Amino acid sequence: MQPRDLSAHEAYVPGRGAEEVARDLGMDPEELTKLSSNENPHGPSPAAVAAVEEAAPDVNVYPKASHTDLTERLAAKWDLDAEQVWVSAGADGSIDYLSRAFLEPGDEILVPKPGFSYYSMSARYHHGEASTYRIEKDEDFEQSADRVLSAYDGERIVFVTTPHNPTGSVLSRAEIRTLAEAVDDHTLVVVDEAYAEYADEPSSIDLLAEYENIAVLRTFSKAYGLAGVRIGYAAVPTAWADAYARVNTPFAANEIACRAALAALDDREHLERSIETAQWAREYYHEALDVPTWPSGGNFVLCEVGDATAVAEASQRRGVIVRDTSSFGLSECVRVSCGTREETRRAVEVLNEVVPEVRPEASEP
Ligand SMILES: *Cc1c(COP(=O)(O)O)cnc(C)c1O
Repeated sequence: MQPRDLSAHEAYVPGRGAEEVARDLGMDPEELTKLSSNENPHGPSPAAVAAVEEAAPDVNVYPKASHTDLTERLAAKWDLDAEQVWVSAGADGSIDYLSRAFLEPGDEILVPKPGFSYYSMSARYHHGEASTYRIEKDEDFEQSADRVLSAYDGERIVFVTTPHNPTGSVLSRAEIRTLAEAVDDHTLVVVDEAYAEYADEPSSIDLLAEYENIAVLRTFSKAYGLAGVRIGYAAVPTAWADAYARVNTPFAANEIACRAALAALDDREHLERSIETAQWAREYYHEALDVPTWPSGGNFVLCEVGDATAVAEASQRRGVIVRDTSSFGLSECVRVSCGTREETRRAVEVLNEVVPEVRPEASEP
């Protein structure tokens, strides 16, 4: 027996974990600085940790009240109706719900290249297909409505990522409006704001009051430090918000995750500290790295290093794990997450050592 034809599917390639790398290199995970997955270097909010501990004895019960509480809390935060908040297992879960709600077999989506791989993976899981618009290195990865529209051909969903992963570039709200107005009536514009807390540009969630074809993705994985419990959401227009009930996996988010998210939302101090550290680290990377970097609105910086795979491997051997962006189609760059001050300084030190050593010129006779 065989599954259906999955030859067009690819596996998601996450940044490597510290334990994994430590095992390969025979090192202690404690010696490694993991800056490959844009995780929060301050950990989760202590209030979220307490909420997880408090919720643990009750996990024999299906999560119902906690899901309702979180949905209502988020609706109040963004001035939305509760049904406009689609809570899910990470923002990735929301991408699946949007695919399920929108795609008929054979429908197409339009995604950035380079870009986040899960948009097209999810479309394929849901019997859809993906085409791409380019974000160009020689234009400093600038994003604009025109750039998307030049590739647009009536796709059912158009994804924009702001701040963009892995480049860090930001798409303005004005451009998002232009895009929403320019696409056909049947096209949904999904604005992925996974890193929005770190950027100066305000969220596009309030545009839902004006547009029926914009949805916004948010996550607790980055600025809130809750990547391990998998919690995120989509904010969607009222007009079709009730589709959630018809497409979601029953009990879309677990008890622990909902309780952790609720606690994290109330911990302004942790959030502000996380943002402040990332802003400091971005500046430090720009100033202290000897290689070219691009301005970033996120908690990471893209750096041009030559042979990305060789640089990532060499820096890993020295205890700093960065993300080789070859899998994003940028084989000459690495993406380095913002760490604590100590981790960030260490990453700069190691990258500045490693890059000149692995330059192709240096190894040729
Ligand atoms: C991290 C990330 C997400 C969401 O991740 P989840 O952990 O599933 O919430 C979504 N989009 C982009 C571009 C990301 O980098």
